Amino acid sequence: MRPGRTDVAVVGGGPAGAAAALAMRRHAPARRVVLLEAGRHDRVKPGEILPAAARGLLRQIGVLEPFLAGDFVECRAVVSAWAGDALEERNSIFHAQGAGWQLDRALFDRLLLEAAATAGAEVRLGSAVHSAAREGQDWQLKLSDGNVVAGTVIWATGRNWKLARPLGAKLRVHGQLAAYIRFFDRAPGDCRLVIEARPEGWWYTADLPRQRRVVACLSDPDLGGELRNAASWYRALAATRHIAPLLPSSAREIASLAKSAGTAGVDPAAGERWVAAGDTLFAADPLSSRGITHALRSGILAAYAVSDMLDGQDELARTRYAMFAEQGFAGYAPALAAHYAAAARWDTAFWRRRRRQAEEERRPVTFPGSSRSAKESWFEAKSEGT
Ligand SMILES: Cc1cc2nc3c(=O)[nH]c(=O)nc-3n(C[C@H](O)[C@H](O)[C@H](O)COP(=O)(O)OP(=O)(O)OC[C@H]3O[C@@H](n4cnc5c(N)ncnc54)[C@H](O)[C@@H]3O)c2cc1C
Repeated sequence: MRPGRTDVAVVGGGPAGAAAALAMRRHAPARRVVLLEAGRHDRVKPGEILPAAARGLLRQIGVLEPFLAGDFVECRAVVSAWAGDALEERNSIFHAQGAGWQLDRALFDRLLLEAAATAGAEVRLGSAVHSAAREGQDWQLKLSDGNVVAGTVIWATGRNWKLARPLGAKLRVHGQLAAYIRFFDRAPGDCRLVIEARPEGWWYTADLPRQRRVVACLSDPDLGGELRNAASWYRALAATRHIAPLLPSSAREIASLAKSAGTAGVDPAAGERWVAAGDTLFAADPLSSRGITHALRSGILAAYAVSDMLDGQDELARTRYAMFAEQGFAGYAPALAAHYAAAARWDTAFWRRRRRQAEEERRPVTFPGSSRSAKESWFEAKSEGT
């Protein structure tokens, strides 16, 4: 191997990239793996609830023990005022896999990257990849701090899809949503995720490790603009019935974040010696609470796919991975639309859109002479969103 060349470059060190690097080290330890992460996981991030289903995935990449020893809060119930004003509880006692966790994401992401480094991956923090170009059979990646030549690329940059064009993929935006999030320095000791539908969208709140609390409002970006403004956000919070009382009066805001949270993904899922994983592959609505498990699972399968590519089985690897990507979110659009429709009891723009989307989802759509699916058409209608 040429000096400086790597078998696998993992671009992005969130849960998907870290799981890919860890799986690669376990599955094909002779292969050289470099993980390039633009940041340092020293800032707040959303994505706080890790469902119990993640346990098996964490075990598979060898991090279950350090994770269980870490400082994460058990999430014993999901409580929601969704179809009506009263709270309904789904307790983890009735869940076959038990309780999930309320995460400090920066802490969680650092734990995974430390494990990847210990397992033998070369982890480079502060290394943003700006472009990718084919160089013979390899990929040449241009970074903020030099170049990397890689036999294969695992593309796991979350909701940053800037590498789509050089890799030859298309971004498909299926629906808009924005999250207006604030973090606080007091936690009431409540081991539950609380969700409340409101005329402007929906809210969630949960305790986080280290006595922190997160409170977020999800709305359409064109409607929720004023939620960026602190005074409007606090006014809307005060009108909630179940979210506001869970914030201790002595709590001080310590950070805030506005983040895109709509549904989007790339097509194809894998190409010439590259594979997309995590949110880059398919970013789901946070209502589904499955972003991190999807990131871990797709990261692991992306590692198997690039390993097959390095063994000369490119087409088989791409076909298998595309099948996984397709199956992973089959049924997502109708299930999401039906779930939103159950809460659509206000005559506001946010809920009128959700009612219309649910109706379109129920209507059988056929496109004579066209390969477009009903699902795609629903998504397009949703993203036009009037
Ligand atoms: C408001 C909100 C709430 C959510 N709540 C939940 C929840 O409760 N439970 C859940 O499971 N999921 C939740 N999610 C989804 C979850 O946050 C994501 O699905 C998850 O973070 C995806 O992991 P990832 O590794 O694919 O991407 P990310 O975690 O986004 O990681 C991508 C990494 O790539 C790096 N990067 C980006 N560009 C480059 C580049 N050019 N070069 C190098 N590195 C780069 C970034 O710095 C980042 O560290 C939520 C999302 C939102 C928006």
